[in-house]
Amino acid sequence: MKVAVFSTRSYDRQFLELANQAAASAHDLEYFETQLNKKTASLANGFPCVCIFVNDIADETNLKILAEQGTKLIALRCAGYNMIDMQAASQLGLKVVRVPAYSPYAVAEHAVGLILMLNRKLNKAYNRVRDDNFTLDGLLGFDLHESTVGVIGTGKIGTIFAQIMQGFGCHLLGYDVYTNEHFTAIAGAKYVDLPELLAKSDIISLHCPLLPSTHNLINQETIKQMKQGVMLINTSRGQLVDTRAVIDGIKTGKIGYVGLDVYEEEEELFFQDYSDGIIQDETFQLLQSFQNVVITAHQAFFTKDALTAIAQTTIANISSWEQGNELTNEVKIPVAN
Ligand code: NAD
Repeated sequence: MKVAVFSTRSYDRQFLELANQAAASAHDLEYFETQLNKKTASLANGFPCVCIFVNDIADETNLKILAEQGTKLIALRCAGYNMIDMQAASQLGLKVVRVPAYSPYAVAEHAVGLILMLNRKLNKAYNRVRDDNFTLDGLLGFDLHESTVGVIGTGKIGTIFAQIMQGFGCHLLGYDVYTNEHFTAIAGAKYVDLPELLAKSDIISLHCPLLPSTHNLINQETIKQMKQGVMLINTSRGQLVDTRAVIDGIKTGKIGYVGLDVYEEEEELFFQDYSDGIIQDETFQLLQSFQNVVITAHQAFFTKDALTAIAQTTIANISSWEQGNELTNEVKIPVAN
């Protein structure tokens, strides 16, 4: 089947090709580096399947264009489906499949990496030693042992993150709309309500999906309830956080450290090279300017294990639809929460 693959980089191609070659009947994959948007949707003319990633824009307008051009299946190469208007997809008769799980370890481990970098200032230390400066001033950290870590969203990634932090000897608080027995099985981990988690955590890590109920979950009000000097980690979705409120929190010292793998307006920036240009997003530039902020560009998923699993599930999802089999990874409305 012909598949138009948007937002592809060389690594997407490499892993999708491997998975496609191993499939019982290979698909005809055509790769587009560009993001799916109103201007580029016409590239998929005549393709029954369109394959997209986190920052493609699958809103009502673009889905209409795709449906009119003959697309029937949208295959997401990710778990989150906030970039697609599911109501519109359903009304247009488009099936949507996703990759619900692919190495949750990749994301959980990256969140831990951000914590270590922020706490022990590894980014500064690395540059300092390379500059033959062997002083320690300004590099003071704290023991993670006995720190309290709040996990918002205790699903697959949040629970693995909690298991790793338990290994450091942290106290674990979880907040979720559902309880997960794997989280409660972690020694010392307990569920609390959101205000208690915010008030007691030294480190808060976000692992819930972006939904109407979680949009800007971290805002002026919730920041007010946090401990002075709290560390905030977001490897989930940028719009869970009101970035301007976080900047205010950093300026007053309420937030002591920020580690982000996702950013509210990342569609305009991430996965592109602007090293020769000027970034127009002043909020991002301000955020970057703080010494106690570390940003990575949506790379938490980026391990060979995760890319292999994403490619294999994506190809299997497309094959299932082509063969008329049950779509076990179909995204259905109404979506949860
Ligand atoms: P999951 O579905 O296993 O877990 C999500 C958890 O969030 C569930 O337990 C759910 O009940 C909970 N939740 C839902 N609404 C909530 C709310 N209002 N408050 C608190 N908790 C709520 O998903 P997962 O595989 O653990 O992934 C979590 C998120 O990580 C994804 O939604 C995605 O946004 C993000 N992610 C990021 C990357 C990356 O590269 N940075 C990669 C994969 C996933």
